[in-house]
Amino acid sequence: MTMPLSTPETPIPETLADWQVLAKRLTTEQRLETRAYIDDAFVDAAGGATFTTVNPATGETLAEVASCDAADAEAAVAAARRAFESGEWSRRSPAGRKAVLLKLAELMEANQHELALLDSLDMGKPVNSSLGDMAGAIGCIRHHAESIDKLYGEVAPTGEESLGLVMREPLGVVASIVPWNFPLMMTAWKIGPALAAGNSVILKPSEKSPLSALRLAELTREAGLSRGVFQVLPGFGHTVGKALALSMDVDCLAFTGSTGVGKQLMQYAGQSNLKKVFLECGGKSPNVIFADCKDLDRVAEHAAAAIFHNQGEVCIAGSRLLVENTIREAFVDKVLAAAERMQPGDPLDPDSFMGAMVDQAQHERVLDYIRRGVAEGATLRAGGEATQVEGKGLFIGPTVFDGVTDGMAIGREEIFGPVLAVFGFDTEEEAVRLANDSDYGLAAGLWSQDIDRIMRVTRRLRSGQVFVNNWADMDQTVPFGGVKQSGNGRDKSHHSLEEYSDLKSVWMTLAV
Ligand code: NAD
Repeated sequence: MTMPLSTPETPIPETLADWQVLAKRLTTEQRLETRAYIDDAFVDAAGGATFTTVNPATGETLAEVASCDAADAEAAVAAARRAFESGEWSRRSPAGRKAVLLKLAELMEANQHELALLDSLDMGKPVNSSLGDMAGAIGCIRHHAESIDKLYGEVAPTGEESLGLVMREPLGVVASIVPWNFPLMMTAWKIGPALAAGNSVILKPSEKSPLSALRLAELTREAGLSRGVFQVLPGFGHTVGKALALSMDVDCLAFTGSTGVGKQLMQYAGQSNLKKVFLECGGKSPNVIFADCKDLDRVAEHAAAAIFHNQGEVCIAGSRLLVENTIREAFVDKVLAAAERMQPGDPLDPDSFMGAMVDQAQHERVLDYIRRGVAEGATLRAGGEATQVEGKGLFIGPTVFDGVTDGMAIGREEIFGPVLAVFGFDTEEEAVRLANDSDYGLAAGLWSQDIDRIMRVTRRLRSGQVFVNNWADMDQTVPFGGVKQSGNGRDKSHHSLEEYSDLKSVWMTLAV
């Protein structure tokens, strides 16, 4: 039985000091789960290896975590297959699966402060932002739990002599490989629909943020998920991730991460059993500002938040700001003023807007792009340097480049950090051309008061989602995903259930 970290004796944390007390309890007094979860047992990696997970805001080591490899993947796949074939979960009534998943959502809610804290400590994001992620994660599990016993199959309109039934069936063993930028929320987006549909799921969290996934494993056990139906393999992509992707007995890879790794996974599927590969990958999203907007202060505030939220470590970050040249100078000044208010702070301070970069490698990668931007001739208007909070940590302030042009790396490549590239445009035609001139197609923003223009431009943007007069409005009921090299699937909503089930067509002859 797990105990919520905040209890009536330790009330809900509200201040920096409250969160610091909880963090101390969690990391020093309460044992963090660091072992893999395979076949209903918490175990060390078969090879005995571990890796270190570090708090990037302080440099302190949080834990040594089991580093799984191919042997662990093989054991987990075998257990997942046994579970699937047993039918205990896969053939349980949808209402029965719903009850367990609702219990899981309830347990996640009771433990949301601990889960949020684990993500903040592990990857440096502000704790209030982590709490928002928990609401998204819990809402996602609930949504799929509530949906699954309300979906019907089809009777096809065939002739009277036969009956054509269209049924949905779970795929079998799903390996979910997820990134570190929204650790538990990305996990929920994958496992919610996959479990609701009746699959056995093996989760491979990022090696940069494994802790909340292992805590979640404890909660799934408490919720009553049957043995082998949910397992967690912490470890590296090139070891355990690759082994799952090459397995001959995994039926689906559900991936969120970079486009480069997504391409590798498709190759692994081709080299093995042609498993289904469902990808949510990177982005370089354009945010297009037309001069007819009424409240440019409000628009600038949103444009800054679109890139600086979560330290810019967001797949749908509005990293390319396209501004109509007649207002560009004044608008960029407003964005700079907004950015000034979004400086990084202690991730445990509920007032911090930005936290730390996830690790040294990401910190260096972002700084390298900034150096390239300067070398390529863009105008650095804000930030651009490594900073620290209380003399510690891997932070970078909001960085704005103006005068970015098509060929510059900072205007084309996904940086995954707090770096905004500003382009100017003169006409609607040019705005659409610039917006679509990208390998990616995850999100696009469009700000205007002109409804005709909004509809014209929305139709022409090659993007999985278009935000009109907002950035990143979200709801569990609306699908999330990209086109082009941003991916080929959809998370969230009923549509995500389709990713985790196959259609079976049944022909029954009646006129014999
Ligand atoms: P990443 O691709 O480096 O890693 C993602 C996951 O894949 C990790 O668990 C990693 O261990 C694993 N992995 C790496 N190499 C592998 C291999 N050869 N075989 C199997 N698994 C492997 O991405 P990241 O740095 O963790 O996350 C950042 C990226 O994720 C960005 O590109 C971002 O845009 C993207 N992302 C996309 C979405 C979306 O919904 N489209 C959401 C969040 C993040």
